[in-house]
Amino acid sequence: MPTIVEKGNSNGDSIKLKVAEATQEDVGKGIVRIDPVYREKIGIEEYGVVEIEGDRTTSALAINTNPADSGLDIIRMDGLIRANAKISIGDYVEVRKADWKEAINVSLAPVSKGMHISASSNILASVFRNRTVSKGDFISTTHFKRSKESPARSMMLEDMFSDIFDLSFGLGEIKMQVVSTSPKGIVKITEITELQLLPEAVELPPEQSIPTVMYEDLGGIKPAISKVREMIELPLKHPELFDRLGIEPPRGVLLHGPPGTGKTMLARAVANESDAYFVSINGPEIMSKYYGESEHQIREIFDDAEKNAPAIIFLDEIDSIAPKRAEVTGEVERRVVSQLLSLMDGLKERKNVIVIGATNRPEALDMALRRPGRFDREIVLHVPDQDGRLEIFQIHTRGMPLADDVDLKTLAETTYGFVGADIAALCREAAMSSLRKILPQINLEEEHIPAEILEKLSVTSEDFKLAQKD
Ligand code: ADP
Repeated sequence: MPTIVEKGNSNGDSIKLKVAEATQEDVGKGIVRIDPVYREKIGIEEYGVVEIEGDRTTSALAINTNPADSGLDIIRMDGLIRANAKISIGDYVEVRKADWKEAINVSLAPVSKGMHISASSNILASVFRNRTVSKGDFISTTHFKRSKESPARSMMLEDMFSDIFDLSFGLGEIKMQVVSTSPKGIVKITEITELQLLPEAVELPPEQSIPTVMYEDLGGIKPAISKVREMIELPLKHPELFDRLGIEPPRGVLLHGPPGTGKTMLARAVANESDAYFVSINGPEIMSKYYGESEHQIREIFDDAEKNAPAIIFLDEIDSIAPKRAEVTGEVERRVVSQLLSLMDGLKERKNVIVIGATNRPEALDMALRRPGRFDREIVLHVPDQDGRLEIFQIHTRGMPLADDVDLKTLAETTYGFVGADIAALCREAAMSSLRKILPQINLEEEHIPAEILEKLSVTSEDFKLAQKD
């Protein structure tokens, strides 16, 4: 039972709840789920506004938990709300009834340089209707079904014109930051709200960078995510646990699985979720582009990570850096393997630097790399099954105005053998197909595409069929 920790302050009672991840359907909607019993304890209705206090304070709409979570003292929220509250899964937050006002003005700015959002503020205002925000919060466009209540949510496709689609690993979702609000404090965006869109990306202080990949952006790999959390996130965040138990936290973790199953994304997600510095080395690149300088480059990267610890070093395609030495002919290659081994051994002193290696061919690795204290843990990513594919489809259609005839379940059924990267490509292709249909009506010389045309954009089942044929 969570305890009521405060009483009688201006906002009423507050309650401590443990943070859990959101389900796919809830991602990007600005909602949290809590048990109605706790919701009533803090005195709010369903869809009421809660203030969530972690290392930072943010807000969201409170919805009842799904039956499976009934009675648990948890609060489910997506990665963006976790970033806004500056907390991660497993942390505790204080939740209370928010003191909020209706927003008169809200200014938003894109969070990535070079990203320009040309959607009209009317469209945005309807995308964000009923969201609660305060200055500094991140907010994102979400997935939605085209329906009568939300007539104008076609921003994401408009942005494809500006190549926005490849941002954040191709997720069709746009993240923005709230630069100012009037009145100040927690405000709700309603029909009276004027939204203003600043053209320039905001310069974020490093500690407040926007997480590009969160666990909810990965589908069909729940078991791998929980292993990663235990093996990597836990020691990075709480090295003292390992000290207390007198055991060594892992130095190196090997991720293996076919290409396109999410190894790179998973490494980035765990870095984001554990607030760790992330450096990445691409195996083939460091061996060819920096030929002769590979050792130096690798050493620099390890130094950089140690300076910025807690840190994660990601070695992509590690088999090209550290193949079996018996099979290596060149002197340089041999030296690079030995150096990698000694750098890993040198990390022993540092509890908060973890090396993640990714490979499709674990059997091709030098055996010495797998000894205790080096890459002695491994996590396998499998080709997703039907349920996994469904989750991945949900993720990659999050930002799309899907027509009613699109059935993601059927798509998941008919894409046997597809990995995450294939599904991402299929969704992108379907969106492009819907775009092609309206291209003749668009005058590309014009700076803004008229709202009536954006209104018509919707990705249909036929678009997915065409995409599957290619
Ligand atoms: P790997 O490193 O295993 O080759 P990546 O992490 O680079 O794969 O994945 C490539 C792209 O495919 C990602 O940017 C993402 O769009 C998509 N993708 C791969 N796996 C998943 C997944 N499990 N869930 C959602 N998207 C995925």
